[in-house]
Amino acid sequence: MDPLLLICGCASLVGLLFASWFLFKEPMALAARLMGAGLLLLSAETLFAGLAATALLPEAMLTWQRVRVLTASVVSGVWLAVSLVYARANYREFLRRWRWPLVVFAAGLPLITVLGWERLVLGVVMEEGKLYWSIALGPAAFAVRAGGILCAAFIVMNLEQTFREARGMARWRIKYVLAGVLTIFALRIFFDGQALLLKQWNPAFEPILALGLMAGCLLMVRSLRRLPHLHVDLYVSTSVVFGSIAAFLVAGYLLLIGVVTQAWRHGAWQAFGLVAAVGLVAGLVLIILLLLSDRARVFTRRFLIQHLQRPSFDYRQLWYDFSQRTLQAMRVEEVASEVTELVSETFEALSVSMWLLDGPHTLRRIASSDPVGSGKGTSTGTDVDAKTLDQWKKVNAPIDLDREKVAWASSLREANPTRFPEGGHRFCMPIKDTETVLGLLIVGDRVSGVPFTSEDLDLLRILADQTAVRMQTVRLAEKLLEAKQWEAFQTMSAFLVHDLKNTASSLSLTLQNLRIHFEDPAFRKDAERSISAGVRRMNELIRRLTSLRERLDLQPGRVDLSTWLGETLQSLNDTHAGDIAFVPGPSLPVRVDAGQFQSVVTNLVLNAREASPLGAPIHVTAEAEGEWAVLTVRDEGSGMEPDFLADKLFRPFQTTKKEGMGIGLFQTRRIVEAHGGRIDVKSAAGQGSTFRVRLPLEETTV
Ligand code: ADP
Repeated sequence: MDPLLLICGCASLVGLLFASWFLFKEPMALAARLMGAGLLLLSAETLFAGLAATALLPEAMLTWQRVRVLTASVVSGVWLAVSLVYARANYREFLRRWRWPLVVFAAGLPLITVLGWERLVLGVVMEEGKLYWSIALGPAAFAVRAGGILCAAFIVMNLEQTFREARGMARWRIKYVLAGVLTIFALRIFFDGQALLLKQWNPAFEPILALGLMAGCLLMVRSLRRLPHLHVDLYVSTSVVFGSIAAFLVAGYLLLIGVVTQAWRHGAWQAFGLVAAVGLVAGLVLIILLLLSDRARVFTRRFLIQHLQRPSFDYRQLWYDFSQRTLQAMRVEEVASEVTELVSETFEALSVSMWLLDGPHTLRRIASSDPVGSGKGTSTGTDVDAKTLDQWKKVNAPIDLDREKVAWASSLREANPTRFPEGGHRFCMPIKDTETVLGLLIVGDRVSGVPFTSEDLDLLRILADQTAVRMQTVRLAEKLLEAKQWEAFQTMSAFLVHDLKNTASSLSLTLQNLRIHFEDPAFRKDAERSISAGVRRMNELIRRLTSLRERLDLQPGRVDLSTWLGETLQSLNDTHAGDIAFVPGPSLPVRVDAGQFQSVVTNLVLNAREASPLGAPIHVTAEAEGEWAVLTVRDEGSGMEPDFLADKLFRPFQTTKKEGMGIGLFQTRRIVEAHGGRIDVKSAAGQGSTFRVRLPLEETTV
């Protein structure tokens, strides 16, 4: 068999094997399905390319070549989708943001191919002494290749963004899948660029592209060994960062294009043999792996420290990062996850976890740089006795867990297994202030097993101490809030008692007078009116207070938010003669307790109405935003003062209304959060308010 066809055939077979692995092993995951489809297309394209280059007759070649360009035109869109979905938990948001480029690449390129079918290839040549066909590109093929380069650049950029957001174990897990895809697309950018430059597709490209596909697949196998299923859910920031790898690749590409064009002019390309092709692919893989490698980064840093005498850490940056990240955290758990991430980055350690005391003697893991792998006791917690806690109180430097012989160390070792035998010793540092131990910070699996220096250990201790300070501050803030709520409750009780007293005394007055004037029909009528007003007032007070005390017992069902909202607002409009502007949007499947949620909508709309001048419109919308369904209620009314917004809104008994009780929004937030949702508000005094309720969207088909 012809060697070129053999290489293409083998690559296509390898691709096919992987495609079926992705498609059949995990057919439910969207990323796996897309990857399977993408690999299937690449395999088919490689096979068609081999058949085209080695065809005996020009007509056969022409047909294979056309089919090949058609396949290539579909490849771009599918892989662009892969790059948006792979390892991203918030992939829906990305798909939404990129919907237009996706449509352009996925539909536009195949359309161009079909429209320009007859003029895909302008001419074919088999040069003297050559075995394979060279092709002069037609305008449609030219456009497909140009579009392919652009799309491949986006793919590389997206994958790089995913990689940058991954930390610790997640980064280690996805590295090789990314390296595989990068290898394949870097080669495509390069050779498509060549073809555009020379307006000609050279068969010498085919074996290199085929080898690239094989290398890409083999790299992916490595990743799959690290992660038997594809799920790594990273929350990738949606602000586009043009990173250094994409820039590096583009710069390297421009340089190479110059060199290769020169080589082409001087006939050197013709002598390009298989060995050189393998060399080129291997070199590329090496560069990509180096760029993605944690080890290379550690090595460079150590080299710089040793030879250029730089301090091991950029302390200024580190403290800036620490304060920025932890200041925004409002809960102890958030502080823990920020610190864990920061420690993992700072010490180049893949397994970092934080355990906090839950009750007097149970440690529970609340943050980890390796959310997938978990040790013993992760969900149930690990017990510690009072003696150990006392010892930890006195600890002043991180403890070498792997050297410690005592019982608590061995149970901690079990709870924090290391993944790499050569990852070095695990260290643990209690998180404590002068009086109490809050928990433990455990660091292990350093890249390349680099040992901890005394500078590292000092820094680890200081980080743990700072974490303790920050956590105590957060806890105090929570307590303060509780105290404030209690204070507000007492104030409210005073009002309530006052209100009840008034009602009771007016009732008893009526009762006294009733005995005297019972025979007077006019008085009896008056008395009846005032008794029922008193009863109404008391019932209203009781109703509102009970709603506050009751546990929320949700009975959620699947509801299309748009339709449901339309009906609810209709009945509100009928009863309150309002003018609510609502245009039903696309279907938004959510799970809500319709009864409870009705009170959310009613409360928001009535508040808006009460804040607005007579006849002013209230705008209600419902739309999808990433994985959320978002309901907004906007008014053009009085708005709120910044102080009220910051300190009082959503707190019980905070009201500015004469007849108000300040319970509605407190209750509204409880209901929304019990549904797994969030509520936020934007408001400016005199300019109106916008309340936004977000609810998790239900899965539709994925
Ligand atoms: P209440 O309506 O009984 O006062 P809520 O908890 O529903 O209780 O509202 C608390 C306070 O928030 C109101 O008293 C009002 O000052 C403010 N508020 C709520 N919604 C709006 C709005 N749409 N515009 C301006 N202020 C609002």
